[in-house]
Amino acid sequence: FIGSPAKAQKTLKIATEPAFPPFEFQGSNGELVGFDIDLLKEIGKAAGFQVQFQSMQFDGIIPALQAKTVDAAVSGITITAERQQAVDFSRPYFKAGLAIAVKSDNQDITSLESLQNKRVAVQIGTTGALEAKKIPGAKIRTFDNAPLSLQELLNGNVDAVINDAPVTLYAIKENNLKGLKVTSQLLTEEYYGIPTAKGSPNLDDINRGLTAILNNGTYEQIYRKWFNA
Ligand code: GLN
Repeated sequence: FIGSPAKAQKTLKIATEPAFPPFEFQGSNGELVGFDIDLLKEIGKAAGFQVQFQSMQFDGIIPALQAKTVDAAVSGITITAERQQAVDFSRPYFKAGLAIAVKSDNQDITSLESLQNKRVAVQIGTTGALEAKKIPGAKIRTFDNAPLSLQELLNGNVDAVINDAPVTLYAIKENNLKGLKVTSQLLTEEYYGIPTAKGSPNLDDINRGLTAILNNGTYEQIYRKWFNA
């Protein structure tokens, strides 16, 4: 039996902001790599679609979904009530939360309250940027990506960075940012999801693929690969 000809698979265009290691970043040959990249490829394999990544600014992702110039996005995107007004999200795939990064020798910054009147760096359009707006008197500096904001802290031009804990911890560990640490308390508990335009028929496929790889061990393999767990 020869079987029926393979059905042509659809290709989904996936938006991502490619400077958020280990979730998405450029490998040594300039190719996109990371936890989210592997995750979407495996979801596609499990659900029967191909993926084509399209890099863009983080604050351009939700507008691109709404304009339907992309089909979905994966970029460590926190599921929030506000974003749920604009897009639909898959089931959550990763638990994260915001952390405060400071210089290793800093003793006085330990909480959101202790950031009053301090200089705080954040990434544009993120939950970290929203959190920083709550601090009375803080001088907020906004950057295009998280590595730039951490560099600014290393350079001593800001007092703290508010960013996703897994990304800051990875940067400190992998890039040997010896002069930085995160304070002990996480500011928030957040869950990443994969957004699509409202009412997108692709969301069912994405959820089906995600559930399949959560259940068959593939998700765990990807997790171990990027978090050494
Ligand atoms: N999780 C944060 C947010 O959704 C940051 C995401 C990112 O910078 N890629 O706002």
